[in-house]
Amino acid sequence: MKPQYTGKGRGKGDLSTSASRVGLLVIGGSSPISVQSMTKTRTDDVRATVRQIRRLERCGCELVRLAVPDAAAAAALPEIRRLVTLPLVADVHFDYRLALAALKSGFDKVRINPGNIGATWKVGEVIKAAKDTDAAIRVGVNAGSIAKSVLRKYRHPTVAAMVESMAVCLEPFERLRFKNIVLSAKSTDVPETITVYRELSRKWRYPLHLGLTEAGPPFEGAIRSAAALSVLLLEGIGDTVRVSLTGDPVQEVVAGYELLGALGLRRRGPLVYSCPTCGRTGIDVIGLTRDVKQALRDQPEPLKVAVMGCVVNGPGEAREADFGIAGGKGRGIVFAHGRVVKTCAEDELLSALLAEVRKARPSGSRH
Ligand code: SF4
Repeated sequence: MKPQYTGKGRGKGDLSTSASRVGLLVIGGSSPISVQSMTKTRTDDVRATVRQIRRLERCGCELVRLAVPDAAAAAALPEIRRLVTLPLVADVHFDYRLALAALKSGFDKVRINPGNIGATWKVGEVIKAAKDTDAAIRVGVNAGSIAKSVLRKYRHPTVAAMVESMAVCLEPFERLRFKNIVLSAKSTDVPETITVYRELSRKWRYPLHLGLTEAGPPFEGAIRSAAALSVLLLEGIGDTVRVSLTGDPVQEVVAGYELLGALGLRRRGPLVYSCPTCGRTGIDVIGLTRDVKQALRDQPEPLKVAVMGCVVNGPGEAREADFGIAGGKGRGIVFAHGRVVKTCAEDELLSALLAEVRKARPSGSRH
């Protein structure tokens, strides 16, 4: 079983984007929507950063961004580049020389907000370096880095100001005919994020990086991100996503795939469905669901697994999933591909379910 890519739900010609290359990854065009994250270590702590990148890679992260706030962080980039194969993005603010250092180190992309880089010639230098190294650039605007001329006109960082700021930011890219770019316009506000990305999508064909900035702790942040991103993704807007969360970056990647999976846009790894439990629940659904999630955590193949607590809705739901458990009183039924495969005591349900999942795996699979 290979991860399945179910397309992007586009089909509206006017929303199709150009394709940008970031190392071996393609963002935009007909490529699957990619899932990315950002390391949360000090970049000059090479060991911790590489360890985190490898954890991200194992859970399916396709692009990793690293903050490069100063010369010490920039000095660590060649070593990090040497140790990992995933496409890497340097996140640079204020000092264009840090972006040049990242590109020289073999980074595949830099993220800059031209609004805080300063003089246009500095942005031009970054563009020329990206051309020379065949790298991409993410061009970002956000409420805090609107071009000064635009902010004077609008006074506040409105959606119109962000879009106009993007037009200003893109001038040097267009003048230098540099098209290997991805656009983003970040806000913490859900309706504003939806509106600004609709506008970007209407005005430009460049691929779009979707995300809600400073979304919050994992629970709140995932809900807020899903509220904004699902509207856009279902409209065919968005080519790569980051679900920003205050927490382990692995959770960002898991949340990204959960979001794409829930929308039927892309599947990777298990989608675990479980009933909320109620007064009819005959088994420990909460514990069993946690154990199923944990046991299938590293599995890349897309699977739908249902854990249900009783005979009312349980068998129906469990039958519809690839694998399922429907509980009874201290016992349960295990389903595989719509068929009952075992009836057993509650404490055997997990191992019986996992045995069925293992049977379906291609031989030689590690998981
Ligand atoms: S599946 Fe059964 S136990 Fe679970 S919430 Fe529904 S009725 Fe309650």
